[in-house]
Amino acid sequence: MSAQKVRKKHIPIRTCIVCRQKRDKRQLVRIVRTSVSGVLVDPTGKQNGRGAYLCDQEQCWDQALNSRVLDQALKTELSEEERKTIYKQRPIERAAL
Ligand SMILES: [Zn+2]
Repeated sequence: MSAQKVRKKHIPIRTCIVCRQKRDKRQLVRIVRTSVSGVLVDPTGKQNGRGAYLCDQEQCWDQALNSRVLDQALKTELSEEERKTIYKQRPIERAAL
């Protein structure tokens, strides 16, 4: 085996679909549209399907779920049930200390 290549750590950048802030992927929460279980929060970020990202600001979650933003990003129509389930899993606001 040849010498190990030193790979530069690649940190993927994603954009919150509401506020459009670009963040390190790990600071965003992925919502995914799956073919089997509908739209859900994907804490692993690895689920197959069309994904959209939301940041940790409560207002972005409010807006995404009370408007068509998330529907449009995922090119689907979210049911009330899905909205409620996703909203319950929003990150607890860690307000600036
Ligand atoms: Zn946001």
